[in-house]
Amino acid sequence: MNKYIKYFLIIFCTVLFFNPAYSMKITHPENQYMTVSEDGIFFSGKIEKYEKVYIDGVAIKPEKTGAFSYSVPLKVGENIFAVQKKDFFFKTETLKYIITRINKADEENHNKFIEQEKCYYETTRDNVVLRSTPIDAGMNRMGYLPKGTKVFSDGRKNQFSRIYLSENNYGWVMSKDLISVNLEDRNKYVPQNFISYDCIKSDKNTTYTITLSDNVPYSAVVEDNKLIVTVYNLDNSNEIFTKEYSLDKFPRYSVCMQNGILYITFKKLPFDKNTYSNKKVKIVIDAGHGGKEAGAIGCLGDKEKLINLEVALKLKAILEQHKFNVYLTREIDKFLSLEDRVKYAQDKNALIFISIHMNSVPISSDPNLDKGTVVFYFNPQSKNLAKEISNRVSKDLKIKDNGATQASFAVIRPTEYIGVLAELAYLVNPKDVAVYRNKKFVQTSAMAIYNGLVNYIHSEI
Ligand SMILES: [Zn+2]
Repeated sequence: MNKYIKYFLIIFCTVLFFNPAYSMKITHPENQYMTVSEDGIFFSGKIEKYEKVYIDGVAIKPEKTGAFSYSVPLKVGENIFAVQKKDFFFKTETLKYIITRINKADEENHNKFIEQEKCYYETTRDNVVLRSTPIDAGMNRMGYLPKGTKVFSDGRKNQFSRIYLSENNYGWVMSKDLISVNLEDRNKYVPQNFISYDCIKSDKNTTYTITLSDNVPYSAVVEDNKLIVTVYNLDNSNEIFTKEYSLDKFPRYSVCMQNGILYITFKKLPFDKNTYSNKKVKIVIDAGHGGKEAGAIGCLGDKEKLINLEVALKLKAILEQHKFNVYLTREIDKFLSLEDRVKYAQDKNALIFISIHMNSVPISSDPNLDKGTVVFYFNPQSKNLAKEISNRVSKDLKIKDNGATQASFAVIRPTEYIGVLAELAYLVNPKDVAVYRNKKFVQTSAMAIYNGLVNYIHSEI
């Protein structure tokens, strides 16, 4: 026998013999048995060059990296999917996924307004959110009520109580944050008195105060770069007192009610031409997720929390080279709550807050359709920074720019700092996988965030 054929046969038989009992690399769904309420679910994972994967008989086409995502619809009840892998030797392995979709119609039946006897309740804790709609999400926050604020309620919807503000004008507070008031005549509506409106100015801050006979519901919302503050339940003819403030020169502010006084404090940005220095700019960088919270999982199994941390550390180093004043919410792989992150930034008196993330999609969406960079902001005064970062990151990574997008995420809600949450690329999009698996990804994206930030500061000086 030709010795080359002999060698080939030896190698062939060895490979055949040692061909390992592999397990399939499906990174999403994380569980083979799941109960969901969505109308679809996506599968993500990795295929080796010599393998083929079929989901319910459909051959999956991976990217060059082997990454793939495939989304399937779900009917109400049990959905069974066979995920089958064939290797080079036609050896097959099948995994069974059983996804049960529950019907949301039952929940929707609760969505009717239930009228109740009008009476007073009070808030049981500080920072109870007053909302414009009875939904626990979205852009509907009006104000934050301190503990002991009396509110006049006439009914419920979902998990919310409806609160009287002024004629034909209502707000919503979570019912669990309210208890009955120990008043003799708790069914009688008692409006409060307006006492005074004052202003205290210093070099850095300007504080306005609205003094009333007791705490009342209030709203502080931004429209067209103006902060509109309104206090309700007053004894004058239109039952409200309202003021507008321009945010052009003082984009950072805080609004808080205490002992019947509403404090509205505006802070100037230290971006004055004559006095500006990078040292004065205090930046808190927040690597999203951490510890027990992995964040999104990429097609190839990458954990979001680790990529976020790498970019955050690199960004800190770049900013420090340029003498910025930088703090990280976490420097290691550990868990932090959203409240911890916000409190850290507020305690540090951050001027700018940048949270770093990698994106995913809701389980019922197709991950192949969403790609590129998006930067979220909550307060309109943070929009320009979001725009600059999104523009620069997408350009330097050569991916789609989804731009600045408004969203209500806890870490970017505070109005005392300019806050953005950057989703650099989609972990579950098979095309974006090649982007973040590139060995220059961390350096390129950190440098791009830095350049976006510098562009923002220059536009403000
Ligand atoms: Zn994230």
